[in-house]
Amino acid sequence: MKKTDLTTANGRKVDNNQNSLTAGSRGPVLMQDVYLQEKLAHFDREEIPERIVHAKGAGAHGTFTVTNDITKYTKADIFSEVGKQTRTFTRFSTVGGERGSADTARDPRGFATKFYTDEGNWDLVGNNTPVFFIRDPLKFPDFIHTQKRMPDSNLKSDNMMWDFWSKSPESLHQITTLFSNRGTPDGYRHMNGYSSHTYSFINADNERFWVKFHLKTVQGIKNLSADEATRLAGTNPDYAIEDLFVSIKNGDFPSWKMYVQIMPEAEAESYAINPFDVTKVWPHGDYPLIEVGVLELNKNPRNYFSEVEQAAFSPSNKVPGIGLSPDKMLQGRLFSYPDTQRYRLGVNYNSLPINKPDGEVHNGYRNGFMRFDDNGGDSLNYEPSHYTVPTESPEMAEPPLKISGDADRYAYETDENSDFVQAGNLYKVISESERQDLIANIVGSLGKAEKEIRDLQISYFKKADMEYGIRIEEAIANS
Ligand code: NDP
Repeated sequence: MKKTDLTTANGRKVDNNQNSLTAGSRGPVLMQDVYLQEKLAHFDREEIPERIVHAKGAGAHGTFTVTNDITKYTKADIFSEVGKQTRTFTRFSTVGGERGSADTARDPRGFATKFYTDEGNWDLVGNNTPVFFIRDPLKFPDFIHTQKRMPDSNLKSDNMMWDFWSKSPESLHQITTLFSNRGTPDGYRHMNGYSSHTYSFINADNERFWVKFHLKTVQGIKNLSADEATRLAGTNPDYAIEDLFVSIKNGDFPSWKMYVQIMPEAEAESYAINPFDVTKVWPHGDYPLIEVGVLELNKNPRNYFSEVEQAAFSPSNKVPGIGLSPDKMLQGRLFSYPDTQRYRLGVNYNSLPINKPDGEVHNGYRNGFMRFDDNGGDSLNYEPSHYTVPTESPEMAEPPLKISGDADRYAYETDENSDFVQAGNLYKVISESERQDLIANIVGSLGKAEKEIRDLQISYFKKADMEYGIRIEEAIANS
């Protein structure tokens, strides 16, 4: 291996990395040991703020390959021809735990992929669940606080979680998913990914379609039992990170098939389910899955911090042909995700190697903390101009989106029972042995909540499916 010299930050060779500079062999350390000062000062600053959610994760580079023609729905270049390949970076994560928490905790899993397309970066920032607990971003900080720690004891609290959920009945569908065995996936390779939100596609004729993305594991779904997940949390809290890294290192590359569900724009107005409500799926019977391509993860990071920790994903990173939707939670994430990265990594985080698009970037953004490229050099940082400056591309404009109504704070319009129907459908889909696990998992947690909270929550389970609710009620009574 080539010998390299140890140097200080200013490039001077280090003469001694074992002994501090002292006044005599037993004397105190001298202020002029600038190498010691620099080394300690850098070490003191090694940690950056962890993400408030999705703090602990694993990541890998990969390739997305188109396997089916969907150009009638989108003009996005990434999907322009069958066989086209795009390089990617994917980060998986748990949601509520801190950066040192156990990988096997019962929690949704983040499934975020950055596609370095020829038209800029497209981020698909999803979860392993097709729905979410809440559907209005105003409730997000409150919800996450219940997944974190009590203000006084700094302990997690089942009572706190169920208190919030029982006052937010729209969460029942996601609760059923979370407490099913899919709430403890066996690592990151054996779970599906979902956009959860509805996005839009725009085709070459400027027609808009609403779209949901699904990434189905080719490895097959595999979950941990609650007991096994608890055991692993003690014996190998980094179970999922290790599983992904070792499998890729051994050449066993995991892959996921991408599918979309497509809804023509006008159908959103008449469809029985609000298609922008992230607590609901679009039943496959109404909107069947259409194959798109395959995502393969085939290269481990060389440096965890620079590639995984500094990876910054946001649903606001979109490309022509892929747009947003009126989903209120999605709208909230458009602000919250980049804002988190500005706080964690600084305003120039998009210039970091892992976040930089492959193509050139031209804009008037200048200066700011940690501007580590040439800061736009001598190019002008305003537009319009008589001189040669980057100019607009009007052909990129999306078709206008029709909206109407008075500005106000609206609840999602739902009838009394609609928040429970799909939770009940999920209960009906799963096998009897999975139902037993689901009920035991719920009882293990809800049983720790106060009676008033428990009773209200059980009334929701009964509305979803009477058998589902009664089994929980009886199991709690007998526990
Ligand atoms: P379908 O019978 O067509 O679909 C059922 C879907 O449920 C399957 O395709 C599978 O989705 C998912 N599923 C199967 N087994 C389990 C399990 N043990 N735990 C969790 N999910 C499982 O009916 P619908 O489309 O009408 O959906 C019925 C219910 O299934 C929904 O209310 C929802 O809770 C759940 N579901 C629906 C999805 C959708 O997009 N329609 C996606 C995922 C779940 P997959 O192949 O994606 O794993």
